[in-house]
Amino acid sequence: MANTPYPQSYYAASANPVPPRPALQGEVETDVCIIGAGYTGLSSALFLLENGFKVSIVEAAKVGFGASGRNGGQIVNSYSRDIDVIERTVGPKQAQLLGHMAFEGGRIIRERVAKYNIQCDLKDGGVFAALTSKQMGHLESQKRLWERFGHNQLELMDQKRIREVVACDSYIGGMLDMSGGHIHPLNLALGEAAAVESLGGIIYEQTPAVRIERGANPVVHTPQGKVRAKFIIVAGNAYLGNLVPELAAKSMPCGTQVITTEPLGDELARTLLPQDYCVEDCNYLLDYYRLTSDKRLIFGGGVVYGARDPANIEAIIRPKMLKAFPQLKNVKIDYAWTGNFLLTLSRLPQVGRIGDNIYYSQGCSGHGVTYTHLAGKVLAEALRGQAERFDAFAGLPHYPFPGGQMLRVPFSAIGAWYYSLRDRLGF
Ligand SMILES: Cc1cc2nc3c(=O)[nH]c(=O)nc-3n(C[C@H](O)[C@H](O)[C@H](O)COP(=O)(O)OP(=O)(O)OC[C@H]3O[C@@H](n4cnc5c(N)ncnc54)[C@H](O)[C@@H]3O)c2cc1C
Repeated sequence: MANTPYPQSYYAASANPVPPRPALQGEVETDVCIIGAGYTGLSSALFLLENGFKVSIVEAAKVGFGASGRNGGQIVNSYSRDIDVIERTVGPKQAQLLGHMAFEGGRIIRERVAKYNIQCDLKDGGVFAALTSKQMGHLESQKRLWERFGHNQLELMDQKRIREVVACDSYIGGMLDMSGGHIHPLNLALGEAAAVESLGGIIYEQTPAVRIERGANPVVHTPQGKVRAKFIIVAGNAYLGNLVPELAAKSMPCGTQVITTEPLGDELARTLLPQDYCVEDCNYLLDYYRLTSDKRLIFGGGVVYGARDPANIEAIIRPKMLKAFPQLKNVKIDYAWTGNFLLTLSRLPQVGRIGDNIYYSQGCSGHGVTYTHLAGKVLAEALRGQAERFDAFAGLPHYPFPGGQMLRVPFSAIGAWYYSLRDRLGF
């Protein structure tokens, strides 16, 4: 992995300047060693540093190299499975706790941006767009459900109203969440990394953890050094590989692809998304899009189970974009890239501890921008001995994928095909 660069994304091309972050050479000692400098690792580091811990992060590539620096930039509240499903799985008490946390991640992002003056083009307002009456019914019940947990910034939209915020004729209605919104995701990660360093945290880039020595005094081994720590946080998510085999068995890396148009100009951009909200549709394999600060359209969608990199991303995603916005048929695509997120069978995050001192959080299955920020807070609380909220996540059950490591990819693809067929047929 030596000198792994960012993918050629719009985000890398418009990233804020960063200082050099040399690889770890030799042996260091710290309170907490975090593996991975995505949002999970950075958010954990910030909360820990703010509470007096010494923190070192080892990052295999660069800050935000993984999903955190490549995603759609959509601040979406709650989890990839909703609270009613959680309630049926784990009962009302645990669901109550998780429900109350479901909107905290978005608040944490906004606090971080304000407190550390992070330049990441933060905008308020996210739209869930319904293509069928079944999806609209789901949004109506989701609104009632979220309101039970005090989330009141929601507006249901009929066909006429959604057309005022998105110039797409396919939607029959939707829901606007003003506590959702969007960001330049890589610049958010870079700003958080700078905040970590401003508090004395150290980030070693180009420094993969290659082995964890477990025990009372755990050690993270890297190619040219080691970190001795009281605690380890594993935050490598879909890029972790098999470093912690017991985690790999119950999760599966998946790819999703994103394209970015050339700048559209103020007028065309305003006709597409007049209020500059971000949008995701309600399909199982969903499309998501938004404008950038320089008025390009960023459009993502689809899933590649098993995270193989598709040869021609534009050929996969451009037709989806043109289906939503045929008016863009002559617009050029400037950037196309892929990124991996980590899927669990339940689509709920995989959180826990191994022994007394190795903690992990991963697998938020698609919607992770807000959850990962919350995860950092919850992990830091647990390390400080306040584990009630951590335990609520750690108690979520997880199962291996049907078919095991060999057949989980085709089995999941068949499952997804079935659900997307249901979306297309509207049942
Ligand atoms: C294309 C795409 C679009 C998405 N869009 C959205 C969206 O719009 N909204 C939303 O809510 N969610 C979205 N997601 C999901 C969201 O981005 C992720 O859930 C979230 O960023 C995960 O953060 P993380 O820190 O857990 O993992 P990552 O950001 O993947 O970070 C993991 C880091 O760990 C490092 N690492 C791995 N192994 C090691 C090792 N052995 N040693 C050292 N370092 C290691 C990696 O290099 C990486 O930098 C999207 C994901 C993708 C891929």
